[in-house]
Amino acid sequence: MEKEASERRSSKKAKRDENFNYTIGEFAVQCYKCFKWRLIPTKDEYETIRHNFIEDPWYCNKNPNVTCDDPGDLECDETRIWMIDKPNIPKPPAGFDRNIVLRKDYSKSDSFYATPTGKKVRAPAEVEKFLEANPGYRDAGVSVSSFNFSVPKMMDNNQKAANVTPGSGKKK
Ligand SMILES: [Zn+2]
Repeated sequence: MEKEASERRSSKKAKRDENFNYTIGEFAVQCYKCFKWRLIPTKDEYETIRHNFIEDPWYCNKNPNVTCDDPGDLECDETRIWMIDKPNIPKPPAGFDRNIVLRKDYSKSDSFYATPTGKKVRAPAEVEKFLEANPGYRDAGVSVSSFNFSVPKMMDNNQKAANVTPGSGKKK
């Protein structure tokens, strides 16, 4: 129950680019207290918040000059495609870029990491192979457990307009 609630508070939003591929357009986090959604300016910052989310819940006043009394930055509604991340996905090791790609029909998404050599890894077995081929990263402390291939949950309102509002409890 607690986990379900936490998952709803950290999200990503995707948008379509000109080539009809879908990438994450913006990052947002939901306040633990007032349930408003706040934009997080960079992926790096978002990944830090997600990494610590259970031990260190997020509140509006962690944004400079913002309190829970201020209007939210965006609503979790049908104007955007919403994907809700699992909490506590480890922050990627330095030089590794974690990516989510949304399928064209909005049905689901896929995860991969771009490694510093440019090679993409899509599963723990591929990480293992990469570390065998590039032992320097293992020596630097990178291990399979540094990677998490969980994909975010798709919100119900991606397929059709629905009156889902943050904190409505509709997902419980
Ligand atoms: Zn708040």
